[in-house]
Amino acid sequence: MTKRIGVHLGTAGGASNAVERAREIGANTFQFFSSSPRMWRAPKVDPKQAERMRELRAKLDVGPLVIHTSYLVNVCSQTDDVREKSVDAFRGEIERALTWGAEYLVLHPGSWKGLTRDEGLKLAADSITRSIDGLAWQGTGFHILIENTAGAEFSLGGSFEQVAELVTRLKATAPVAVCLDTCHTHVAGYDLVSDAGYAETMAQVAATVTFEAVKVWHCNDAKAERGSKLDRHEHIGQGTMGVEPFRRLLNDARFAHAAFIAETPVDEPGDEERNVRVLKSLVQAA
Ligand SMILES: [Zn+2]
Ligand SMILES: [Zn+2]
Repeated sequence: MTKRIGVHLGTAGGASNAVERAREIGANTFQFFSSSPRMWRAPKVDPKQAERMRELRAKLDVGPLVIHTSYLVNVCSQTDDVREKSVDAFRGEIERALTWGAEYLVLHPGSWKGLTRDEGLKLAADSITRSIDGLAWQGTGFHILIENTAGAEFSLGGSFEQVAELVTRLKATAPVAVCLDTCHTHVAGYDLVSDAGYAETMAQVAATVTFEAVKVWHCNDAKAERGSKLDRHEHIGQGTMGVEPFRRLLNDARFAHAAFIAETPVDEPGDEERNVRVLKSLVQAA
């Protein structure tokens, strides 16, 4: 099985063009936004574009296809209006993901500010359940991936336990699995950098979300220190994490099934390609 390594790509000129772009920069998987990440309204997917996406992906062997949900969606908001808009918007995200033929739709679990964490958890599970209710996802392999967050105050999902709790609540009603982000994991306080810390952090993965459920690793180095709760992504190897955590993850047989996708900054043209190249250079021959 070839290791799946890619990057978040912009979709100027149509999302299906990103498939060729992924291959041009040496990636065999990628993530994109299916709508403007800071606007509620989203355009419908052109079925011709979706068909072209499927053809190109098959021809060029690009997958899994990962979509990241808009930042506006907050499925556990205390405000009814925001929560209802979020359910509508997230339903649209799921519909578009299914039309594009995406395997995974990544979701940040949201902010429970003004509530208790437990109320937030319950609202998030209810909202996600309502968002997917009645949609035809069965048999497609589609999964919603709950992403761990940087652990900022009131944000749900700052620990593996919280991600696991939400996944458990949703198991009966929605196809859910997990996306872990290296930067979020690091700034939330987990140690991926030292040998002993990595082993301990992986023991916690095993005890909570489980290795099997982690379908995507967002590979981002961090600008901020471990435990800082500051979510600032950095180029692979140039931040407070360095390349070793990425080498360990990419070569960890327990994540052999997972895709590794960078969401690193684009400071200069060619940065996407450079980060993909660094990740690929860390993979050891089996
Ligand atoms: Zn991420
Ligand atoms: Zn982040």
